[in-house]
Amino acid sequence: MIPYGRQFISQADIDAVSDILWSDFLTQGPVVPQFEEAVAHLCGAEYGIALNSATSALHVACIALGLGPGDYLWTSPNTFVASANCALYCGASVDFVDIDSRTYNLDVEKLEEKLKEAARSKTLPKVVVAVDFAGQPADMRGIYFLSQKYGFRVIEDASHSIGSRYEKRPTGNCAHADITIFSFHPVKMITTGEGGMALTNDYKLASHMGKIRSHGITRNANEWNNIEAEPWWYEQQEIGFNYRMTDIAAALGLSQLNNLDRSLHRRSEIAATYNYEFSDSPVILPWQRPGAETSWHLYVIRVDPVRSRVSRRELYDECRRAEIGVNVHYIPVHWQPIYRKLGFRRGDYPQAEEYYASALSLPIYYGLAETQLAHVIATVKGHL
Ligand SMILES: *Cc1c(COP(=O)(O)O)cnc(C)c1O
Repeated sequence: MIPYGRQFISQADIDAVSDILWSDFLTQGPVVPQFEEAVAHLCGAEYGIALNSATSALHVACIALGLGPGDYLWTSPNTFVASANCALYCGASVDFVDIDSRTYNLDVEKLEEKLKEAARSKTLPKVVVAVDFAGQPADMRGIYFLSQKYGFRVIEDASHSIGSRYEKRPTGNCAHADITIFSFHPVKMITTGEGGMALTNDYKLASHMGKIRSHGITRNANEWNNIEAEPWWYEQQEIGFNYRMTDIAAALGLSQLNNLDRSLHRRSEIAATYNYEFSDSPVILPWQRPGAETSWHLYVIRVDPVRSRVSRRELYDECRRAEIGVNVHYIPVHWQPIYRKLGFRRGDYPQAEEYYASALSLPIYYGLAETQLAHVIATVKGHL
């Protein structure tokens, strides 16, 4: 089966990991801060906090931004469930803003309308999670502008978009977000096995997230309450978790960064090939907003229900039969039983639902061979 996404592991990655296995530190040691600095430097952010997943990163980001019971977090329904679940971890409520029918990202005009209503009913969100779907940066300038006007904080869920650019600057620079988070799950752009990172330009947010990552404990003497502390002292100042990244994972991540540019290049080559080959086919191709450059984490086509001979389901089945692991991103989050229990219904976010009904993710990743690419193209074209 040709998967829709796959990690690429080099001999250098394997060597970097085995070096750590022979070293003094397996869990968070000297390589974690090296990886944090490398990612922060690459993205132009001040601070990086490495965690054991992007889900953990979303959780600590919400805590650091003060999200709690009685508060609202808004996000896009076209995302992985983790972008919304982080609110529930904090005892806060979730609400969604429908997507733009061209970018499949949160629609800023709809966000503004919803904010106006929420201002009247005094239910403004405390946090908005903007998701860079498929790697295409969300309209961060528009969202940031509204955050200033309505007083909410912004988390950019950039799980798909390390390597993307927005207004010529790398995703993760936090010019338009309080905190940006990355995922290093194997299907994402670079991997650490499991892993994630939270980036910010705010020292207080960074040190708070670093503390929550490790039980709420600080070993930094400047932060202690007890002034007569002994040399072995540490203080737990609030409740935290064990969300630490291991040095094993960080060494893999650091080495993976060396292949990021090549991976971005190969992905954009594959996307250009698909765009060219399907230009006359009865599908809607991905559309890129001017001013934003995607990482091409996903390549999503939409099967035109009128012009195509097959339905999305039929095309999915045919591809699977041809050993092509196409997939669907995403089932609208508000359709999940847990969100239905909270009162959401089918029909609540028509653009996300219409998009979902026709979307199909085709294979796109660094190691996809030309013969495999040709097989995908021939199979899809043969059935449309
Ligand atoms: C993968 C993903 C996550 C969660 O990442 P993990 O590292 O697996 O926890 C969150 N949000 C989005 C949009 C994702 O694609």
